[in-house]
Amino acid sequence: MTSELLNGGSMNPDSVAVRGGREDLQALGVHALPLDLSTTYPLPDIEHGGDSYESMALGGHPLSEGGAVYARLWNPTVARFESGLAQLEKAEAAVAFASGMAAMTAAILASKDTMKSTVDPATRPHVVAVRPLYGGTDHLLASGLLGVDATFCAEHEVAAALREETVLIVLETPGNPTLDLVDISSVVTQAGGVPVLVDNTFATPVLQNPISLGAAMSLHSATKYIGGHGDAVGGVIACSEETAEALRRVRAITGAILHPLGAYLLHRGLTTLPIRVRAQQESALRIAEWLQSHPSVEKVHYPGSDGDPRGLLQHQMRGTGAMVSISLSGGFEAAKRLTSGVSMFTHAVSLGGVDSLIQHPAALTHRPVAPEARPLPNLVRLSIGLENVEDLINDLAQALAPVASSRDEMAVDPVIADPIRMDVAEAAVR
Ligand SMILES: *Cc1c(COP(=O)(O)O)cnc(C)c1O
Repeated sequence: MTSELLNGGSMNPDSVAVRGGREDLQALGVHALPLDLSTTYPLPDIEHGGDSYESMALGGHPLSEGGAVYARLWNPTVARFESGLAQLEKAEAAVAFASGMAAMTAAILASKDTMKSTVDPATRPHVVAVRPLYGGTDHLLASGLLGVDATFCAEHEVAAALREETVLIVLETPGNPTLDLVDISSVVTQAGGVPVLVDNTFATPVLQNPISLGAAMSLHSATKYIGGHGDAVGGVIACSEETAEALRRVRAITGAILHPLGAYLLHRGLTTLPIRVRAQQESALRIAEWLQSHPSVEKVHYPGSDGDPRGLLQHQMRGTGAMVSISLSGGFEAAKRLTSGVSMFTHAVSLGGVDSLIQHPAALTHRPVAPEARPLPNLVRLSIGLENVEDLINDLAQALAPVASSRDEMAVDPVIADPIRMDVAEAAVR
């Protein structure tokens, strides 16, 4: 990635990460990112304030003579973060939300408006979703809560799953938690013009730029790598300016904008994103290699662990990332022992921070997923942080030491596996 240029400009992505979205600071006479916590803004007069309000309600920017009006519509600290992220993603624009799920919700709601005029308006809009997906996304789509129907399928089944009323295709690559890769270009081709949303949380803009591969939207749970320090929840979607307008309209109405303090922390996180991802990835590869030969480990999952037969690590990604999942030969019992036996890894959900985490997807992040698509009970997911890699390996070695012989079928039979009831969803207003 060293010779790559951004947006036709001359900056390397490492420089964009540090500099992007800070273009107005010099004129403001400040060096650090200003944090504007205003909930409301003084209006010059009724007409100009009203015009600016109208511009933003339609998804546009505030008018310079009319001001930002109200913090649910616009905030300069949030806008700077969006600009920095958009530049890193090689996109025209980005729109930031209170969480990754708020971002996903807005993307689905905005897509409903794009249903072809030839479709009977009584028809529910339709989304095609390539599994595996983050459990929350799977749950949101399966529930029907937003008034859309969803078809879950594999990558090669996308074209066959399309309907006249399909308004969006959702995919995640690398997928959570199996780290399976999906060929973005193949799905874009199959989509035949239907917008494709790629959840780029695991790859980060450092390793993958879905917009450059034809995706309409690249979504991040910024809570993870973008922030990188486990202290800010947020979501962001990189896209065209036209799509950004549709997303901002939804964001203004539903009140899902990112808090400025979150934007400040996430924007600061961008500066170290490339070096964090590269350092964490280097350790993850070492750990994956070490795990591969461990007798308690049945299979190690990371991007390319299947030999990358389609060359996606060459054409689509610029690295394998810092997430590793393992299938344990000792089943659920071994997973329980590992997650409670480690001390250099925190047993906690989430990922992408400077500290290493370990969690059990079937019981936690993927608990709401339908049983047939839920991860197996012997699968454990590791997020590799910036600790010394030898320390991490030693810790895994001591926690994996007792090899279990029995492979009991555990156990995760959660009540919430049956998503929000469909009859409730049916009543949702389109
Ligand atoms: C965590 C996560 C989300 C949801 O993001 P939140 O910020 O927790 O709302 C979506 N997609 C992926 C891949 C995630 O890991």
